[in-house]
Amino acid sequence: MTPSKATTDERQTSLSEPIIIPRPDHPISRKKIAHNAIKILYRLKNSGFTAYLAGGAVRDMLLGLTPADFDIVTDANPKQLKRLFRNSRIIGRRFRLVHIFFHGHNRSTPQIFETATFRRPFTLEHDDAESIKEQPNLANNLFGSPAEDAGRRDFTINALFYNIADFSVIDHVNGLQDLEDRIIRIIGDPDTRFAEDPVRVLRALEFACRLNFTIEDETGKGLKAQAHALAGVPASRLREELRGLYTKKTTAALLSLGDHYQINHHWLPDQIANNTAESIPLLQTVENFFPRLDNDNELEKMTITALLLPGILKEYPLADEVRLNLVQEKVEEWLKPISQRLSLPRFQRHAIKEIFTLLYRLGRGDKRINQLLNRDHFFAALFFYAVITKATTPRPAHFSFWRQQGKRLNRNPGARKLDYGALFGKPEKKQTGTPAKTQADKPTGEQK
Ligand code: ATP
Ligand code: MG
Repeated sequence: MTPSKATTDERQTSLSEPIIIPRPDHPISRKKIAHNAIKILYRLKNSGFTAYLAGGAVRDMLLGLTPADFDIVTDANPKQLKRLFRNSRIIGRRFRLVHIFFHGHNRSTPQIFETATFRRPFTLEHDDAESIKEQPNLANNLFGSPAEDAGRRDFTINALFYNIADFSVIDHVNGLQDLEDRIIRIIGDPDTRFAEDPVRVLRALEFACRLNFTIEDETGKGLKAQAHALAGVPASRLREELRGLYTKKTTAALLSLGDHYQINHHWLPDQIANNTAESIPLLQTVENFFPRLDNDNELEKMTITALLLPGILKEYPLADEVRLNLVQEKVEEWLKPISQRLSLPRFQRHAIKEIFTLLYRLGRGDKRINQLLNRDHFFAALFFYAVITKATTPRPAHFSFWRQQGKRLNRNPGARKLDYGALFGKPEKKQTGTPAKTQADKPTGEQK
């Protein structure tokens, strides 16, 4: 046994008795928990089961943040859960979870609570079609004790429980200390746990960025050493994990941290991994500029465009003489590997290609505003045009024309109330010799 493994084992043995923090000593109050989650927890408890809140909800409430969702764990098995909650559905093939649904007053999108039975460690975390080997009876062997359930989770801060029976917080993995110290630490032996499920490599970066925590040294070494296994993660799963990031506006930070650990090339195609020095600031602008944009698809399209754009611009700067078909060929060529890596659906590939086409049309001084405005992704293209040209000196020929349009179009519904005028920045101070309005700056076919 290697020394580091001995330490890990000792650590786990010594923690087999959980630390229990009674209600007066922690800040989680029932008022902060979704009403329907409380209902589920109480119904389980009143039926004689153990019922805990788990995962991100406990972590976030301890940090004073508002949880995104409330996950529940219990010793009731899926069939018992189904019997207790009429409004539920068993999902998953290998590890069966129960989704419990509640409809709002106006029958809007239902609120879903994921309720899982305590499970023991198992090498595969996810229910991917690829990873499921049909094994009858396997499900029966998956259930475990609360301590085992905590032990199979990813990071110590994600493995805390809130017990509805006495409102205490239960800590089997020393997560409270790490929460206090603001540390991301994988549970168990880092190499084993990252190799077991390489998506945890990205999750480590994600939580460090989202919460502004530090990655503990051994965890950092483990993720660096095992990041190569990200290459084998199914595209659908990688996309799902990334889509979870977009609305949290932490993709740029995650890529920076990935550069720090030198692991981005393990999961991103070369064309993207080689250009992060330029694409990260661009992506940061996307995240800052769209604070209210809360749509995964919209942000996914903007993110992938931002990742591809700097490399493409190196070969084809925005200029009148650029041949559109050559740019389109290049975009097609570079889009292919990232589309495969993330299993991007056709409508997203189409959207990204369209943004590039429109962007280069703006760059060539195509001013058929009405025609351009009818195109779905005009505002996305205008966004990238503004960000890129604002940063270039001298400003390209059509810059002031598009800046004027940006201001004028702010109230267009397609602008989604985002201030495109601001994005172009204030007009430069009048300098002596500022060129007069040129022919190139006049619109064509514009309507009032
Ligand atoms: P978020 O606020 O993004 O929902 P979360 O911590 O709740 O954060 P989820 O993806 O919702 O993250 O997962 C819920 C819990 O399931 C995690 O807190 C963690 O305990 C466990 N978990 C999720 N993914 C993994 C994984 N790949 N390996 C081990 N445990 C995981
Ligand atoms: Mg969650």
